[in-house]
Amino acid sequence: MAAVTATSNTTTTTARAVGAGSPTADLAPLQIERRALGASDVRIDIKFCGICHSDIHFARGEWGEIPYPAVPGHEIAGVVAAVGSDVTGFAVGDRVGVGCMVNSCRECENCQAGNEQYCIAGNTQTYGSVDRDGTFTYGGYSDHVVVDQDFVLRIPDEIPLEEAAPLLCAGITTYSPLRHWNAGPGKQVAVVGLGGLGHMAVKFAHALGAEVTVLSQSLRKQEDGLRLGADHYYATSDDATFTALAHRFDLIINTVSAVIDMGAMLSLVKTDGALVNVGAPSEPLPVPVFPLLMQRRTFAGSGIGSIRETQEMLEFCAEHGIAADIEVISADQVNEAWERVLASDVRYRFVIDNSTLTA
Ligand code: NAP
Ligand code: ZN
Ligand code: ZN
Repeated sequence: MAAVTATSNTTTTTARAVGAGSPTADLAPLQIERRALGASDVRIDIKFCGICHSDIHFARGEWGEIPYPAVPGHEIAGVVAAVGSDVTGFAVGDRVGVGCMVNSCRECENCQAGNEQYCIAGNTQTYGSVDRDGTFTYGGYSDHVVVDQDFVLRIPDEIPLEEAAPLLCAGITTYSPLRHWNAGPGKQVAVVGLGGLGHMAVKFAHALGAEVTVLSQSLRKQEDGLRLGADHYYATSDDATFTALAHRFDLIINTVSAVIDMGAMLSLVKTDGALVNVGAPSEPLPVPVFPLLMQRRTFAGSGIGSIRETQEMLEFCAEHGIAADIEVISADQVNEAWERVLASDVRYRFVIDNSTLTA
């Protein structure tokens, strides 16, 4: 918090950050303003921030035009530095996290039902949204953030902060559909793509008691996949995989960041089984209907998880000794890390050490 220029509750603060100035520019150090600490706000000194593939899609304008500079980062782990006068659940020094959203309308049926991630008005994203004070939100590639207490998570003491950071997106995004579609004993679950989300999906599906298969582009990461908890590992580049695994799975979680052959994937789903897409490629994903209707298969999507479920996921991780497999980097290595994510060369989440921010 060295760059904070004012500490009064009525003034904004300046944060050191790393961001992109255009869709094609490298990320570079810059400064951003954080809102003044409101009565229900928590100011968090960010210790670590995971690098999600969504950060790249977003900052490079792959999901649509955005204003620049863009400061991504929605896998935030840190320590409470200050609390507003109405904050009851958090105190200075608490270990906390922030995921992909920082607010929602709180009135629609989904918010009322505790599914604020599906807020009908659209949740306020940690970056790339207009916040309630009318300013554009900036993410966790920065040294501090101000967030409403209702969107702050507690990080259990058992989980080191750097390994907890990726749980705030990669963790909840895979935990939520695995729970919703009842992954558990007796169920055959496949995870497509062994990256940040994929490696967490394998850990959770295994911990929930399912029989887990990884479907990766190659067998390059087979040893890792089995170590992470998979029972089987197949390469999608090998046509024999699709013969061997036809009609095998109750549930497939597709974490791939690019367009893949959905007809081939659907052929691996049992009658009445589900293929759930969490990957968010920039291009539309063509889904043939015949593999769906001929076997009453479901094709679905799933987005992050609620705050309540995210807290539950963190407790589940503490209980089962689960955290992300990470490679900690300094802020000046972010561009290199992004290139490695794009090359599927991540094992299995890059996490920025935010003490190395220099702007
Ligand atoms: P990641 O670490 O890059 O992992 C994606 C994996 O997909 C890669 O490791 C690779 O696995 C596989 N893959 C990549 N390109 C491929 C291609 N052309 N063909 C086949 N497989 C390919 O990314 P991530 O951070 O896990 O995010 C994955 C996707 O989920 C992104 O699109 C991200 O935006 C999205 N996402 C969605 C949500 C949500 O709420 N639904 C939340 C977070 C992220 P192998 O090397 O094993 O093949
Ligand atoms: Zn993410
Ligand atoms: Zn709502």
